[in-house]
Amino acid sequence: MRSPILDYLDDIIARTDHVDSGAPADYIPELAAADPDRVAVALCTVNGTVYASGDTDQEFSIQSMSKPFAYALAIEDRGLEDILERVGVEPSGEAFNELSLDSETGRPKNPMINAGAIATHALIDDTEEPVVDRLLALFSALTERPATIDEDLAASELSTGDRNLGLAYLLHASGSLARDPAAAVRGYARQCSVNVTVRDLALMASTLANAGVQPNTGRRLFGRRTTRHLLSVMASCGMYDAAGDWLTAVGIPAKSGVAGGIIGVLPGQVGVAVFSPRLDAHGNSARGVVMMERLSEDLGLHLMEASRPSRSSLRERLSTALEGEPATVYVLQGDMVLSGIEALVQELVENPPPTHLVVFDMSRVDEVLPVARRTSAAMATKLIDEGHRIVLVDPEETVADFRDSQGREVERWTVERLARAGGGAVD
Ligand code: GLU
Repeated sequence: MRSPILDYLDDIIARTDHVDSGAPADYIPELAAADPDRVAVALCTVNGTVYASGDTDQEFSIQSMSKPFAYALAIEDRGLEDILERVGVEPSGEAFNELSLDSETGRPKNPMINAGAIATHALIDDTEEPVVDRLLALFSALTERPATIDEDLAASELSTGDRNLGLAYLLHASGSLARDPAAAVRGYARQCSVNVTVRDLALMASTLANAGVQPNTGRRLFGRRTTRHLLSVMASCGMYDAAGDWLTAVGIPAKSGVAGGIIGVLPGQVGVAVFSPRLDAHGNSARGVVMMERLSEDLGLHLMEASRPSRSSLRERLSTALEGEPATVYVLQGDMVLSGIEALVQELVENPPPTHLVVFDMSRVDEVLPVARRTSAAMATKLIDEGHRIVLVDPEETVADFRDSQGREVERWTVERLARAGGGAVD
């Protein structure tokens, strides 16, 4: 049986068939030769399954969609504070290749316009390996296939790359470019010439949706904080001077490239990618933007859309006997975020455990956010003060070194002990 998700993606392509405005970029001679009628769309949830329709295996150059990933690598190398001192995070409202730096600091306005991207490329550490090799390794880890560069395209970009070269010299003169300007632009042109398909891009976007962890390999490629920061910059600066229109109409962090690709990320849920080479006046794929608008509307992707509250952290409450003692077992699940922990606290307050022994089974918990940790410490304190014996079953140590807010350590059991004692959730 064919997945209805694939049928839906076919439908997106069919419904946008009439959008034929714009033209492929021509300031890079090789790009002008692209077949303008190619079209593809893909999505990949944080579970890692890629759904794609149209010219799904068509390779094209990543162009500016490489910028967020290079930025993330630079942040991982040098730390966010260091990068923020050198490249700003303010939307510029200008074209992608504008010759402008912040008039006071001399810094590029953000890492998504060319000035910021060239500076960022030169901030990636090259002491052990050349920058471009590190980027290729990163793209390969993101897409689960060896990344390659279209060297003809890179040469073509350099042959008409005076503007980027001009930007690099400007950056160098203002102290914002650490390396030789010509070498930085060469490396940057190769970074932009990496071959991708919409499948690759959907996987790359879903890694960002998945807080920096590649969903299939489970490898953490970027820190949670780096990813959050990056997505914020994509939301405000990703679509060049159309960023405001984009955020209101489509409403997800995104990045476009002049070869006609666009990636979009709905944090915690899905990465999407579209491809169509004809560009609008802003340099974004004209049909790609319409496809993204449809996806956002149909799939409810808009970030500002109030979604259903996430599911409760409490999966079930069991009344049982453990090691001969009456006990209440709370089986917790998922990521413990504010809304989920609030539901648990409410349950404990309104329906207090009737037994002395209270067990929190956290074997199904993925992550405990700081707010949930603080709230559960406060809750544990109240329960202990009321005379309860609290036991944590936390095999993954999602709350390592957990103490109540008086600093008292909480008793821990292994999953095996809970099972032997006659507890544990039934699947
Ligand atoms: N390599 C392109 C340039 O710097 C990237 C531009 C883009 O995709 O927006 O001109």
